[in-house]
Amino acid sequence: MSPDHPTSAWLDPRVAGLPPSATLSINELSARLAREGRTIYRLGLGQSPFPVPEPVQEALRRHAGANDYLPVRGLPALREAVADHVHRHTGLRYGPDRIQVGPGTKELIFHVQLALEAEVVLPSPSWVSYAPQAALAGRPVSWVPTTRADRWTLDPDALERHLATRPGRRCLLVLNHPNNPNGLSIPAERLEALAGVARRHGLLVVSDEIYGLVDHEGTHVSMARYYPEGTLVSTGLSKWCGAGGWRLGALLLPEGAGWLADALAVLAGETFSAVSAPTQHAAVTAFRGGPAIDAYLRDARRIVRALGRRCATMLEAAGLDVDPPEGGFYVFPSAEPLRADLGARGVASGASLCDRLLAETGVAALPGSAFGRPAEELTFRLAYVDFDGAAALAACAGHVAVDDRFLETWCGRVLEAVELVTAWIGTPAAARR
Ligand code: PLP
Repeated sequence: MSPDHPTSAWLDPRVAGLPPSATLSINELSARLAREGRTIYRLGLGQSPFPVPEPVQEALRRHAGANDYLPVRGLPALREAVADHVHRHTGLRYGPDRIQVGPGTKELIFHVQLALEAEVVLPSPSWVSYAPQAALAGRPVSWVPTTRADRWTLDPDALERHLATRPGRRCLLVLNHPNNPNGLSIPAERLEALAGVARRHGLLVVSDEIYGLVDHEGTHVSMARYYPEGTLVSTGLSKWCGAGGWRLGALLLPEGAGWLADALAVLAGETFSAVSAPTQHAAVTAFRGGPAIDAYLRDARRIVRALGRRCATMLEAAGLDVDPPEGGFYVFPSAEPLRADLGARGVASGASLCDRLLAETGVAALPGSAFGRPAEELTFRLAYVDFDGAAALAACAGHVAVDDRFLETWCGRVLEAVELVTAWIGTPAAARR
C-alpha cells in the first residue's frame, strides 16, 4: 500500500499542536499593520535596543574570512573568554570543558530538555519558549504559580509543596532572572532558600541568566553561587551585547556533569555542528571585555533603569499594579485593579486587552497568558525597547544625566506608547461611550 500524499496529517502531533511563537507572531502582526500605514509601537518583541559594541563589530569584520567548522563544544579561546568573563562577574570558576557554545541559549536550553528524561518544572510566569520546547522534546511540564504580591518570584515553600506531590520523579526546574516578562531579580536569600529545596529533592536547575549583565545596578547574583552542584547557567550575547541576531549563547555546566556535557556535545554535533566561525571569533572580543565595553554596559544600564522606572511610574499612576523593573527591558503590569471597568468595555482576558491595545492605540504588547499566566488574568508585558539605542548611547556618553528630559528626547516613542496605553486603560467605560 502506498502512503497518503504529504499533507498536514503527516505532522508529528508534538509539532502540529504548537501555535507559532507568541513573540514572533506579535512582531509579524505589528510589521503587517505598519506596512498598511498604521503607526505601531513595537513593545511586543524583546530585542535589545542597543547596537553591538564597536570593538565587537570590528572583530567580526576582521574574522569575516574564518570559514572552518569549529569544534562542536565551541572555539577553545571563546570558552576560555567566557570562563574568565563569568569569573570576573560572579566569582565562579568554570573550566572550558564545562562550557558548551551554541546558536543562542534558546537552542541550548532545548537541547538540555531533549537530553534529560525529566519533568520540566516552571514558575508562572516564565519565558515563552520553555514550555513549547518541553512539548517538542516530549517532556511533561508542571507549573508552580507565583503572585504579584510576592513579586512574581518562585516561593521555596510552594516549590517544596509542588515537589512533594511528585516523589521519585526527576525534575528539571527552569529559573530565569532578571526575569522576562517581569524585569525582576530573585533576591540572594530567595536563591539560597530555593537551592536548599533543590538540593533536598535532587533537582537539576537551568538558571537562564541571559539578562544577568543587564541587571540595572550591575549586581546580578547567579543561582550557581548557591547550588553549584546542580545548576546549569545559560548566558550569551543577545541581550547585554545587543547581538540577538548573531545567535551566540553559552551553557555553563556543574562540576561532575561531564556525562551531560558529552551528551550535549553529541546533540550539537548532530544538529547545528558549531556556531558560525566569524561570530565565535568576535564573541571572544565581547567576552574579554575592556574599557569600551564596560562604558557601553554602564550607559545601557543607566538608560534601561531610568526608562523602566519612568514607565512603571506612569503605569502605576493610571491605576495598574506594577513593580519597577530591576533588570532587562520589560515591565509586567497588571490591570486587575481596573477589571470591572475593563469588563464593561468587553475586555476580560490578557489576550483581549492586548488585541484591543494594538487595534486602538497601535501599541504591541504580549499578554501574561503567553508566559503561562491564566488566560483571564489582565497582565501584559511591555518591552520598552522601541527607541534608537545607538543615538541614546551616544547622547549619554560622558556621564550625561539620564533624567526625564533625556528620556523624552531619546526614548520618546516608548513614553508616547506608555501614555497611549495608560490613557486607553485608564479611561472609564462611561467616558468612552
Ligand atoms: N531566555 C530568555 C528569558 C529570553 O528572553 C530570551 C530571548 O528573548 C532567550 C532566553 C533566548 O536568547 P538567545 O538569543 O540566546 O537564544
